[in-house]
Amino acid sequence: MSEPRPILIADPQAGVDAHAGEIQVAIQRVLASGWYVLGPEVAAFEREWAAYLGGGHAVGVANGTEALELALRAMGIGVGDRVATVANTVSATAAAIQQIGATLDFVEIDEASMTMSPDALEQLLTASGGAIKAVVPVHLYGRPAAMPEIVDLARTHGAVVVEDCAQAHGAMVDGRAAGTFGDAAAFSFYPTKNLGAIGDGGAVFSRDLAVATRIKELRQYGWRERYVSATPGRNSRLDELQAAILRVKLTGLDRENARRASHARRYLELLADSGLRLPLPDTDTIRSAWHQFAVRTPRRVELMAHLASVGIHAGVLYPVPLHRQPAFASAESFPVSERACDEVLCLPVHPGLSTDDVDRVTNEILRWATP
Ligand SMILES: *Cc1c(COP(=O)(O)O)cnc(C)c1O
Repeated sequence: MSEPRPILIADPQAGVDAHAGEIQVAIQRVLASGWYVLGPEVAAFEREWAAYLGGGHAVGVANGTEALELALRAMGIGVGDRVATVANTVSATAAAIQQIGATLDFVEIDEASMTMSPDALEQLLTASGGAIKAVVPVHLYGRPAAMPEIVDLARTHGAVVVEDCAQAHGAMVDGRAAGTFGDAAAFSFYPTKNLGAIGDGGAVFSRDLAVATRIKELRQYGWRERYVSATPGRNSRLDELQAAILRVKLTGLDRENARRASHARRYLELLADSGLRLPLPDTDTIRSAWHQFAVRTPRRVELMAHLASVGIHAGVLYPVPLHRQPAFASAESFPVSERACDEVLCLPVHPGLSTDDVDRVTNEILRWATP
């Protein structure tokens, strides 16, 4: 008897295979065009991505981390400014804030949603007396953070909001896309994201044309006109090949997100009595992009080992809260974030999985939970 096929936590190749013919056409078109960086494919993708988000301006950049950096810089955030974000996110969120010379303030999360707690944010904003200049909520695992409450609080205290949307392509709140609530939003197109390229890529979105114009300068040496730097900039360009492939992948994003949501509903139903703490379901107003399906258990090491023994890969995203990482260390404690990082385990939920795959995962979890 042959071993069952392994079930991966992410499967970017399946995402490419699903569009193989169109991607080949797109690649050939770029090769034949002779234009390889910041050309017509990037411009078209920027228009299509902004339209997908409901209108506004998208600017392609090199990756999601630089999208965050440039978005903050375009909002006037820089050296010595205090920026608030959460501790249960990928290092990239904090690395971007640090790269522009700003200092980090961590905000506790809400226990149920595992995203930034508006109450904790309000306390920090009030205590800081206007010193927090920007707030970076993270729509972790695809679940939108508490928008628009976070935006209202930030506005009241004179801070801008840059949404970290790297895991939230297509997530919605009250019929509006995640990324359209703040002053700007940063997206990553790293291959494993809901909208993924076949290399690095990112974009800044803003409804404000002035912000988009500034990003366009910052991503290419500060040029306002060719060969003349008007402002200190850098190189953070998106290339034509990635943009052409992203245009193809974008046509499948809603379908793939619907498949993730369907897998998530199945997990929620079948694991209801598993003893695991399950993520919040979607509601009439909040639609997760289901980038990850993050369960919580104090016994995650055992559960992960059991799943691995039967060819199912689960992932710990993220094991160490940022304030406990050497680069961002802080003496403060954030018990809810720390517990989330201690207990979280992400089950495979990507669109390359079949319903049978999801059932295989749930069966193994139930077998483990009720020996
Ligand atoms: C992936 C990710 C990033 C960084 O994106 P890159 O394209 O890898 O630079 C930032 N924030 C979050 C929450 C992410 O998941």
